[in-house]
Amino acid sequence: MRKPVPDLEMEIVDSLPGFSCRRCARCCTGKVIALYDRDMERIRSHVKERYCERTSTVERALTGARYKMRMVDGGCVFLEKGLCRHYDLRPNTCRRHPFIVSEGHKLVASTCPGVEWSSEQGEGEYRSLSKGIAEKIDLFLDNHAR
Ligand code: SF4
Ligand code: SF4
Repeated sequence: MRKPVPDLEMEIVDSLPGFSCRRCARCCTGKVIALYDRDMERIRSHVKERYCERTSTVERALTGARYKMRMVDGGCVFLEKGLCRHYDLRPNTCRRHPFIVSEGHKLVASTCPGVEWSSEQGEGEYRSLSKGIAEKIDLFLDNHAR
């Protein structure tokens, strides 16, 4: 079963579909790429340029993150010619995309062309990567989508 979530460009699903990234960089433009402490530690030990900026009050309420990736001309500051310049350092937000998995919900980004709806996969890795944001998403769904 797939149920759209208003405002989030995501769908609630019963089980995670398959996924194979098409490298379209759609998830690197026009989005809030939330940064958590572990992300900041990983990136700042290797990157000297200004890569982050503060989240707005609304963004913080939704993600729980105080910082997000800096956007330049609508795209992530690490995006260059359609590729991530620091792929090995990318935030967990990027690693788990297009999925957010919590105890309560499984969500899939409806705009990601790499989602393979005809197959299924396990959720373990995505569940661990979703820690932090999953609680906030559950709260959001409690208020908006039930
Ligand atoms: S995760 Fe999805 S949206 Fe992002 S680059 Fe891969 S296919 Fe495109
Ligand atoms: S850090 Fe890399 S993968 Fe993540 S949004 Fe920026 S360019 Fe895309």
